[in-house]
Amino acid sequence: MFVDVHAHLTHEAFSQDLPDVIKKAKENNVLIVCAGSGIVDNQSVLRISRKYGNVYASLGLYPWDAVSLSEGEIDFCIDNIRKNAENIVCIGEIGLDHHWGKGKEDLAKQEWVFNKLLDLSIEINKPVLIHCRKAEQDVLEVLRTFEGKTIIHCYTGPQSLAQEFVDMGCYFSIPAIIVRSKSFKKLVRKVPVNQLLTETDSPFMGLTRERRAEPVDVIEGVKEIAKIKNMSYEKTRDIIFGNFKRMFKVNLK
Ligand SMILES: [Zn+2]
Repeated sequence: MFVDVHAHLTHEAFSQDLPDVIKKAKENNVLIVCAGSGIVDNQSVLRISRKYGNVYASLGLYPWDAVSLSEGEIDFCIDNIRKNAENIVCIGEIGLDHHWGKGKEDLAKQEWVFNKLLDLSIEINKPVLIHCRKAEQDVLEVLRTFEGKTIIHCYTGPQSLAQEFVDMGCYFSIPAIIVRSKSFKKLVRKVPVNQLLTETDSPFMGLTRERRAEPVDVIEGVKEIAKIKNMSYEKTRDIIFGNFKRMFKVNLK
């Protein structure tokens, strides 16, 4: 089996043919973790995960979406994730993002929300799927005192910090665009194979620039990881799927 631990199946890019996309994944033995980004999106993620046997839900609050919410709305969102603890395999996507400007108040709010969600992950015993863009050092500092399980999604920060995340036991989910990305190839060389997962960030990171990403693309990611780790494709696939089961504690549907 293969796994895509981070796909946005609720995105409008899939509005016309979502059942076909999920069916294609199923026929190719790909399980999907659908990531939510906030109050409304999380409800759509739950709906999709209830409907399809090969789709699992991860509910979250995207850092920039959190900035525009009131405290009451943030609490509502977090409460809703707590209430759905039994229906989800993960909390995400959550994290810190310093890409769109650097207003101090906004960043402080992101960090406040991030910490609340990390506390929730300990409370309901679920791993967290972390988005960190241009905020790697800050995420690292926050995680130093965090005792839960973490997956860093689409890491594009400095390689030197990547080693620190590895040493802290974080897993890395590697997008299928590793086939055309030198920096992800470099990252995979650094991360032990038992800390690797695969993802697509569908529909955002297509194998070519012209097409959208789809969960089935993780198969190309596994092939590339196998080459870099100098292991067979089958063994690489099985180790990564084992990592998924260990990390997400899923009961296969
Ligand atoms: Zn994402």
